[in-house]
Amino acid sequence: MCRHLGYLGPAVPIASLVHDPPHSLMRQSYAPRDMRGGGTVNVDGYGVGWYPTPGQAVRYRRVGTLWSDANLAQLSRITSSGAILAAVRSATVGMPIVETACAPFTDGQWLFSHNGRVTDWPGSVADLAGTLPTTDLLTLDAPTDSALLWALLRSRLATTPPARAVADVVAEVAAAAPGSRLNLLLTNGSVLVGTTWTHSLWVRRADDAVTVSSEPLDDDPRWREVPEGHVVTADPSTVDVQPMGRR
Ligand code: GLN
Repeated sequence: MCRHLGYLGPAVPIASLVHDPPHSLMRQSYAPRDMRGGGTVNVDGYGVGWYPTPGQAVRYRRVGTLWSDANLAQLSRITSSGAILAAVRSATVGMPIVETACAPFTDGQWLFSHNGRVTDWPGSVADLAGTLPTTDLLTLDAPTDSALLWALLRSRLATTPPARAVADVVAEVAAAAPGSRLNLLLTNGSVLVGTTWTHSLWVRRADDAVTVSSEPLDDDPRWREVPEGHVVTADPSTVDVQPMGRR
């Protein structure tokens, strides 16, 4: 399945996460180490989101392979931010390979990514989708599970704290579509929320910064694996890991 990462801390170049580390997101796109049976490589698309000004995310996303985008490699070296979310995509069989299906999904301050798949898509979650306003369904980024998860989550974020909203969406989708793989990652530029639901996730807090990543970016011993079935809420000074309840 896909790989994703999030960073909060002192401003760093996007390349310091996406291109440069020994096990960068770019390397994870062609040589991931821990896909748990969900595909082999992540070559269907990629995207990165960051904050030129606090509270307003921008996003760059494309179809294809991250390593062949020389323009992004160059821009990533001169573009720095204190909050970054990036992803590479391995499209689930049957889902369209289009730019708008690539994470991060965004709205205002929010950036979102999904690593996994919804079992028996789309029938399993048709009722859940039906709880959304019709306009939200008509304006989905793409007809994919990840885009629907983003719509379900976004509709809660106005009224529910981010970690609660993310855990609620995982619980509801897991109940409707058992066996789904639901590693979600969300940020508003000040807090990162990630879940482990059948896929790997690691967190490193160091040097006034926190990084959450599907796979460790290097061999720094400060990387900690987030246990299965948990939600991690992190900012540069705190990492909180809580169980999400029975599967
Ligand atoms: N199912 C999602 C998609 O097709 C996410 C894929 C993944 O995690 N590999 O975009």
